[in-house]
Amino acid sequence: MRKNIVAGNWKMNKSLQEGLAFAKSLEAALAGKTLKCDVIVGTPFIHLAGVASSVKLGVAAQNCSDKASGAYTGEVSAAMVASTGAKYVILGHSERRTYYGETDAILKEKVLLALANGLSPIFCIGETKDEREKNVHFDVVKKQTVDALFGLSAEDFSKVIIAYEPVWAIGTGLTATSAQAQEMHAYIRKTIAGKYGEVVADNTSILYGGSANGGNAKELFACPDIDGGLIGGASLDVEKFIPVIEGF
Ligand code: PEP
Repeated sequence: MRKNIVAGNWKMNKSLQEGLAFAKSLEAALAGKTLKCDVIVGTPFIHLAGVASSVKLGVAAQNCSDKASGAYTGEVSAAMVASTGAKYVILGHSERRTYYGETDAILKEKVLLALANGLSPIFCIGETKDEREKNVHFDVVKKQTVDALFGLSAEDFSKVIIAYEPVWAIGTGLTATSAQAQEMHAYIRKTIAGKYGEVVADNTSILYGGSANGGNAKELFACPDIDGGLIGGASLDVEKFIPVIEGF
């Protein structure tokens, strides 16, 4: 059975002290609630070890290197991420694709290294506004999925969490309608079924990301192919993040 997941993406926000305090207060606020989803916080690298050792929430890095180790100044390897106690790594976020030139070929390497080090990738795919307007959004999302992920064995693929994040909805306040999101999630699941079969596709968690918040999470998460969210802005405040988690 696939899991329901709500994952926060802090991006480049919060000092170490703020991040640790936030994780502890989020955990305290969730204590005693009956959760219908796993909760993950995606922190900057420097927070990973501290957060992973002080709370029981899932912890994700927001990136890892496409190289295993060596003379790559400033890079952080998948093995290093795993050594912090983090279990997940967000890969292919549109901000990394756009600002840091991450291609599907680079992301393929990152995915392989993440999996080889026991991390579950939260793999982001999604079209730009222009691509949606040109009606090529299904092709774009399919190509991103095929090029970076479809070389994996079924066993490895089953450790991947997909996040459909239409680029035009990230941080813009424009959310895909639940009908638009459901349509794309169903398409992604069908694409996965075509490669790995119905069982693997049924067991794949596909999250929605793009201006999701406490006001729209419930409607989005009620869709049959939407298994949770990757949440940016609304994951930065406990009072805003809890209503998203309670969208389930
Ligand atoms: C994200 O960063 O993955 C994201 C979805 O951001 P926001 O929720 O702010 O649109």
